[in-house]
Amino acid sequence: MKFAQIKTAMIDNSELIITDLEITILNGLPTFEISGLNNYKGQQCFSRVRAALKNNGFTIPCGRIVCHLTRDIKNGEIRSLDLALAVAILLADRQITNVNHSMWFIIGQLSLSGKVLPVNGVFALSRDERIINCRWIIPFKNQAELKCEDYSDKYVVDNLNQAIEIIENKNIDKFMAEHTRSDPLKIKPEPIYELVGQPLAERALLIALAGRHPLLLIGSPGSGKTTLANQAVHYMPQLDPDKLDQVRRIYSMYGVWNEQIDQGIIRPYQAPHHTVTQMALIGGGHDLVPGLITYAHNGILFLDELSEFKPNILELLRQPLSEKTIELSRKNISVKYPADFLLIAATNPCPCGYRLENDQRCQCGAAEIKRFKRRLSGPIMDRFQISAIMNDLTQTDLIKTAENNLLPQTKINKIQQLIAKAQEMQSERCNAHKISFEYNGQIMIQMFVDFFAINIQALNHFNQITQHHLLSPRSYLALLRVARTIADLEQREEVSEAHLHEALLLRANPDIY
Ligand SMILES: [Zn+2]
Repeated sequence: MKFAQIKTAMIDNSELIITDLEITILNGLPTFEISGLNNYKGQQCFSRVRAALKNNGFTIPCGRIVCHLTRDIKNGEIRSLDLALAVAILLADRQITNVNHSMWFIIGQLSLSGKVLPVNGVFALSRDERIINCRWIIPFKNQAELKCEDYSDKYVVDNLNQAIEIIENKNIDKFMAEHTRSDPLKIKPEPIYELVGQPLAERALLIALAGRHPLLLIGSPGSGKTTLANQAVHYMPQLDPDKLDQVRRIYSMYGVWNEQIDQGIIRPYQAPHHTVTQMALIGGGHDLVPGLITYAHNGILFLDELSEFKPNILELLRQPLSEKTIELSRKNISVKYPADFLLIAATNPCPCGYRLENDQRCQCGAAEIKRFKRRLSGPIMDRFQISAIMNDLTQTDLIKTAENNLLPQTKINKIQQLIAKAQEMQSERCNAHKISFEYNGQIMIQMFVDFFAINIQALNHFNQITQHHLLSPRSYLALLRVARTIADLEQREEVSEAHLHEALLLRANPDIY
């Protein structure tokens, strides 16, 4: 019997599918038949494999090649099967021998010349129990994603011939996979410049990061809004191992592996342009692929020029902002992706941008400003819990900014520590109340005043003197959340009136913009 069996894998509708690939060669006219997979896709896969085999000096078996996948594949990334199919055909046709009678798990795309190209999902596979007892062959280019306890019996290859050497037990030590860390020089992070002259905005950012409060930056052009948002991912403390694995899994499954994120140098950061499409932002399409909000999971989503985004696009952010996930569906399939990010947005206060400066530069008419404000009163404006006004830089600050001084690592470390300590307080509070951890900016509970340990006398006094601010219930609650985070940053058990006043100063105030 001419038969071979290999385990392989692919991503199908966001699920990691592991399947057996069986090949048998029967008498008859030379054809390729495949079951478990759309025939057209199957034939494409066979065409690539045939070319790669021929170009490497192998012969195509003369007969009916019948291929069976033990799992049905709907929309899977079929290219991941190429290398397994090529090896299985050679084994079934006895052109090569599985010397040790091992059970092989093989993934990899093939180019027509026989090069092995990378595939998606290797990080997730490296933690998968279903293939733990197999010997592995994976693309060399995916080696950084391989994170397992035991690297023995795992091999990485650049081309088809290397895979065959391994199966035939020749020179296999050359191809053993190892735990790799990329060369730190090669992944040198982009320089982060110091922001000068915006202490209020830096303070707002610190609080937003510590309690995960959505932050709106309002200011003149060139006041440093984007610089500040870029700094934010560096200030976030390193992810704990579980959360880092969540992020790695997403980045591996969808082929956007990022070494800086893998090594914990920065958090995920996505800054879509205001022309971003629905599919790019939240995900979707035929294969229900994730969008940028999922790539921002456990990190930051930065929307620059907020007023330019279409209201229907911003509307889409409501669900993830409250539920921390996004559900996508098409016909009768639906998938849920994580999307827990800190939202930071930036906007000018008027079309020209200079309305909040104490000079005559802003020439915008009342009607223009009114129209602009209407654009900003859109669907997610009530979600911002903090805002900061960023005025034009003074001349001295401009000169300092122009010097492009790098942000000192000591400052980054200090801010990371402050944030980590404040988040520890939040975690302890949740533990004490026997609820699972949530940030101050996101937690949904009854009895906020009790839970946040807000001093009642301070709150009553504060309420009396701030009555005229006419805060909506949502913005009042946001204010209590922010005050709690300010107290957490100071490691105070109780929220005092000073914390409430600072929160009021930083509230997202629709009268201004
Ligand atoms: Zn203006």
